[in-house]
Amino acid sequence: MPDATYYRKGFGLRAEVEEELSGDYTGHLVDLLRAQEYVLAAGDVTIRLAREFGFCYGVERAVEYAYQTRKKFPDRRIFLAGEIIHNPHVNAKLAAMGIVILAAGADGFDYSSVQPEDVVILPAFGVTIADFERLRALGCVMVDTTCGSVLNVWKRVESYAKDGFTALIHGKYYHEETRATASQVTKFEGGRYLVVRDLGEAQMVVDYIEGRGDRDAFRARFAHAASPDFDPDRDLARVGVANQTTMLARESLAVGELVGTSMESRFGSEYRSEHFRTFDTICSATQDRQDAVLALLAEKPTVMLVIGGYNSSNTISLAAICAERVPTYHVEDAACIEVDTKTIRHQPIGTKQETTSSDWLPMHGAITVGLTAGASTPNNKIGEAVARVLATRGIDPASIR
Ligand code: SF4
Repeated sequence: MPDATYYRKGFGLRAEVEEELSGDYTGHLVDLLRAQEYVLAAGDVTIRLAREFGFCYGVERAVEYAYQTRKKFPDRRIFLAGEIIHNPHVNAKLAAMGIVILAAGADGFDYSSVQPEDVVILPAFGVTIADFERLRALGCVMVDTTCGSVLNVWKRVESYAKDGFTALIHGKYYHEETRATASQVTKFEGGRYLVVRDLGEAQMVVDYIEGRGDRDAFRARFAHAASPDFDPDRDLARVGVANQTTMLARESLAVGELVGTSMESRFGSEYRSEHFRTFDTICSATQDRQDAVLALLAEKPTVMLVIGGYNSSNTISLAAICAERVPTYHVEDAACIEVDTKTIRHQPIGTKQETTSSDWLPMHGAITVGLTAGASTPNNKIGEAVARVLATRGIDPASIR
């Protein structure tokens, strides 16, 4: 008998929500850019859009399921376990539909107000095993929108834990997806994980493997990012690398290579083949967006605009790639581009603070503005950003047909 409290394939209501979704998230200027090979010229301003940008398959599916859930359960209270995706506009739309976003605490989401007759949507990032079990125990309806690419990472991490390997996850320990991924090791007795944020932290792991580390210092350094009883002497002997799906792909590969090479140089190639595994779990949507932005940068834009939530991992990765080459502005929303004052509110790369800049856009002469957007940014916000850039340069966006 099908489980009437757990859904992960939608409710067959796509046709009923399609118009609403399209009204909320599609954009005329983006359609135009697509139709014109991703280039739009107006006066002295050329806009170039990356060929892969914005909503990915996982986000599209999660947002659609949330809309379907509202249609399916018009009279029930609906909750979301955290943000469905990292985009303030999308989350605000869902909130306006009466969907309540639950706050996260150190031990998971606060389900104290959820009753058995309520509905809880699980986001595209997934939730931890502990959160999942708590909801199961509550007996409420669960609509699980976890992306298939995230489920693939979980499978990989599970296989490491099953075979006695520590899952070394390249990711952000506090990110919902990585927390959910790391929790998968607890399905197996003795399952362990360690999260490294970047190559610098991977180097600390390598130093330990090569005998240069201090056990207590290592444990203290990674206390927030490792399984509770992590012991580097025991748990770095067999390591399997996986990654949060939205990291910088080249950095993830480098992390795996660094650890594998270290094991080989210390203990030999046979040891490496028996004690080290790696698998690239960057999702194809992230990879495609990073490849597309590199292609766009080859066109040498004057300035790059990257649109997406400040806490959106894949947007931050895109902005980091751009900032290595051209002046780059990561904006949370199109509204950050202030036409009247000709200023821009943005989060500089490597910081967690929004700042305002003037003189960000040359006001005279021919310029090319490159544009991309993270996987959680809807097309209407990208179109609105194009319109605001044009208006800042005194071009009426309404004149663009
Ligand atoms: S970024 Fe990748 S893993 Fe995340 S929701 Fe999109 S497709 Fe899925």
